[in-house]
Amino acid sequence: MRWKDTFIVTSKETPKDATAASHVLMVRAGLIRQLAAGIYTYLPLGLRALEKVENIIRAEMNRASAVELRMPCLTPTSLWEETGRTDAMKDILLRIDAGVGDWAAGLVLGPTHEEIITDVARAYLKSYKQLPCNLYQIQLKFRGEARPKSGVLRTREFLMKDAYSFHDSWETLDTEYQNMYDTYCRIFARCGLPYTAVQAESGAMGGDVSHEFMVLTDAGEDLVAISDDFQYAANLERAEAAELPAPPDEPPAEIQEVHTPGAGKVEDVCGVLGTEPRQMIKTLIYTTVADENEKPARVVALVRGDHEINEFKLAKAAGQALELADAQTIEEVTGAAVGFAGPQGLIDRTDKLIVDREVVKMKNAATGANKTDYHVTGVNPGRDFPLDGEKVSVADLRNVVDGDTAPTGNGSPLRLRKAIEVGHVFKLGTKYSDSMGATYLDKNGKAQPLIMGCYGIGLNRIMAAAIEGSHDEQGIIWPMSIAPFEVLVIALDPRDDTAMRTAQEIHDKLEQAGVEVLLDDRDERAGFKFKDADLIGIPLRVVVGKKSLAGGGVEVTERGKNDKPIVAVDAAIAQVIERVRSEKARLLAAK
Ligand code: ATP
Ligand code: MG
Repeated sequence: MRWKDTFIVTSKETPKDATAASHVLMVRAGLIRQLAAGIYTYLPLGLRALEKVENIIRAEMNRASAVELRMPCLTPTSLWEETGRTDAMKDILLRIDAGVGDWAAGLVLGPTHEEIITDVARAYLKSYKQLPCNLYQIQLKFRGEARPKSGVLRTREFLMKDAYSFHDSWETLDTEYQNMYDTYCRIFARCGLPYTAVQAESGAMGGDVSHEFMVLTDAGEDLVAISDDFQYAANLERAEAAELPAPPDEPPAEIQEVHTPGAGKVEDVCGVLGTEPRQMIKTLIYTTVADENEKPARVVALVRGDHEINEFKLAKAAGQALELADAQTIEEVTGAAVGFAGPQGLIDRTDKLIVDREVVKMKNAATGANKTDYHVTGVNPGRDFPLDGEKVSVADLRNVVDGDTAPTGNGSPLRLRKAIEVGHVFKLGTKYSDSMGATYLDKNGKAQPLIMGCYGIGLNRIMAAAIEGSHDEQGIIWPMSIAPFEVLVIALDPRDDTAMRTAQEIHDKLEQAGVEVLLDDRDERAGFKFKDADLIGIPLRVVVGKKSLAGGGVEVTERGKNDKPIVAVDAAIAQVIERVRSEKARLLAAK
């Protein structure tokens, strides 16, 4: 294709507030244009790359024996009410309540499609003979993301491949989960992504086993814990560490009250008391999420002052979702302003005390005095607050921190790394089939709930993550498999007949050989063309100029490399065809 016949709109402008390299480069290379916050147009060059990603995903899903369908984006609110996700996902659901005609019943722009596919399944999957079955689609999703950012890494409208599998046994779910896991590895490898699979929480999707596929980069919003020996990888929500060694033993001291006016934060209190955060107990007060007419239960959680509470672990330990108590409740429970809570005596005024396992080992700790502007020192677990009893439990409640030891038992340290989540696989179980009454008849003619798995990939994120993983100061360096074009032929001076004819001939022969080639035939300065070439990042480049022709041929270069050998025209064509073929074959075989 000739550049003049395309619509390639590169620019020097850096989008305001852009921090991610992929955001800056995708805008500057003319791949995307923002229409509104979190909403983007894919310009022709961007669309070509996105379609490449789509083709790879479709090919691999079909190879894995999943079957494609297409569900609507507009979905009736009633389906979301069946599973209770009108509440569970309330900020995410983009709703249309037009208030007239049959629209008045309410519609949701689908953010994910468990409810819709389960509706399909309950209509058609009636017998064990039809199972297992894996259905997928590649379709737009809509989410009310509060903070769309980093270009297309987090948007309100994006393309997702979502697949849902249905089973009559947990064994076939395990098999299909592994099939999808392996398929995802192939998809990401084929897209040229440096990915890592990590254990994950299943969040609002429900279910209990899941993995996320991550690209490690500072542009990511997620944190993952990875052991130095790569034997352990989990996202922060899920990650566990080996227990810490007990601190040195010391004789228990008496509790002493210390005046700490205005010092509610751990660092401030440490300043006044002359202690370290790890010698403090953070006392956090939560309430259960209850209906309006129910009284929420009060739960006290304790973690060490240098640790952060992990609310996923806390909810698991409490057996239900919790939210931080409001100031009024905290004052009611502790009798003090926020920032001065301590565990002493709270067990009688609350419904549950959950103690992090590292707090159990503490000696002579400091904590709030349950009295405004006062803290206490010399607090000892077991003596000053209970560690057992009906209302008390001990659990791992904290986020892991950099330098913790992996829970694998081999002593390898954990590192926290920023990452972008590009895909997610879950074992859902019967959450949706139970609430929506999706059953099949088993061998004995008995109705059973369908067992489900679900598997999602963000196409736009793959594109952006690939750029995060492969670029330099000048621009994008596309992996061959998802590059908008595989080869760029630059005619340095299109007014020079010989050079232009040669460039056109190279272009035509490459195109005939099935190579996706772009011919820069613009009447622009060489420097300008090279800048654009670097920016849009086509992996292979052939430069045709008077000088190279006089030297016996054309320059063949790889984006991101410096050597520019001159190769005779026919040899250059053959070499380029072979390099495209072999690079694609390498990515196809990668894992
Ligand atoms: P996140 O935690 O980043 O919000 P999620 O866990 O909600 O994502 P899933 O529901 O698992 O995402 O969706 C599957 C895939 O869809 C994700 O792995 C990601 O690649 C993509 N995705 C999710 N939300 C967005 C978004 N707002 N913009 C672009 N892609 C997204
Ligand atoms: Mg996810």
